[in-house]
Amino acid sequence: MGQISVNRVSKSWGSFVALDSIDLDVREGEFLSVLGPSGCGKSTLLRIIAGLEAPSGGEIHLAGRNVTRDPVWKRRIGFVFQNFALWPHLSVFRNVSMGLELRRTPAAELRKRVNDALAMVQLEALADRLPSQLSGGQQQRVALARAIVLKPEVLLLDEPLSALDKNLRQDMQVELKTLQQTLGLTTVFVTHDQEEALSLSDRVVVMNKGVIEQLDTPDAIYNRPVSEYVARFVGEAFFFRGRVEERGATQGMRLAEDMVIPVEGAGQRAGRDGVAFVRPEWVTLDTPQPHGDVELPRGVVDRLMFFGQSSDYLVTLGNRQMRVKRRPDAPKFRAGDTVILRCQARLLPNAASAP
Ligand code: ATP
Repeated sequence: MGQISVNRVSKSWGSFVALDSIDLDVREGEFLSVLGPSGCGKSTLLRIIAGLEAPSGGEIHLAGRNVTRDPVWKRRIGFVFQNFALWPHLSVFRNVSMGLELRRTPAAELRKRVNDALAMVQLEALADRLPSQLSGGQQQRVALARAIVLKPEVLLLDEPLSALDKNLRQDMQVELKTLQQTLGLTTVFVTHDQEEALSLSDRVVVMNKGVIEQLDTPDAIYNRPVSEYVARFVGEAFFFRGRVEERGATQGMRLAEDMVIPVEGAGQRAGRDGVAFVRPEWVTLDTPQPHGDVELPRGVVDRLMFFGQSSDYLVTLGNRQMRVKRRPDAPKFRAGDTVILRCQARLLPNAASAP
């Protein structure tokens, strides 16, 4: 059993099912992100773990203890939400100390714990300020200090960085991860930002309409998604549909218009219809040779897009457009050039095994 154990948890409002029998174990010290589009049930799951919402069915265990019927304050959970409402009339110090005051913590211990928590988020020097005298990132750090000062068993974060601009957000991501690792805090982090989820997490949950679509390492979620939904939601993907066929030791997928793309994917049987996908950085463009590679997919370059550190080609294939990362060492193509695509697409297990 994990540090946080969610067993067959459901939540309905009337006939609307927000969570449908969720099972999830979060390991001790793990940083787990919950990723999914708006309305898929991320916040509801977090609120049920915190005790802010009662489940319609199922159980929550924290460190082996059934807390399903425990109120919030009995759960030893720290949480930071998107609108991390600090008390505007209280100093930074008092914002952080309030939870300890309510628990009647002796004054000397209180001072030490608040100062330690403020030091951890590098805010000791600003302890006397009011929230209105802080930047967005500093306010966010006060909210974090307020959560960790109570020495929670787990930390729940619901889009805590979404109100920050891009640079500050990136800085805070690093700080948050460092703090989480230093304290060894079991953390559940809700976000709809896939890069944030991939870069911070030990494991990622991808949710879809109240169910878990995939729970895996960031690498597996990105490179070996279990469904079209996950492949599409996490990163950019271009899909091919066709019939899988054996080609000597390798596999190919026969597409319309007599093109064949090499594919890989465990346990796919030849002769079946399937769906395969590529990421923009998996594809290399090449100049077609008069008699070579006749079956490889061909496209026409629409344009080259320059982003500073990298650039992308937009390539039309049939009536669809795909994005391909330009490799620095590859020949440069111009709009209107015909190109062949060299890549190995990955078969998706679900669609490919469907009859
Ligand atoms: P977002 O990224 O927009 O915050 P989310 O994935 O966190 O979305 P939830 O807030 O968990 O989504 O909501 C899941 C679904 O449950 C939504 O369709 C929402 O409208 C619905 N819902 C949430 N709270 C209630 C409520 N109190 N009464 C009725 N429906 C609710």
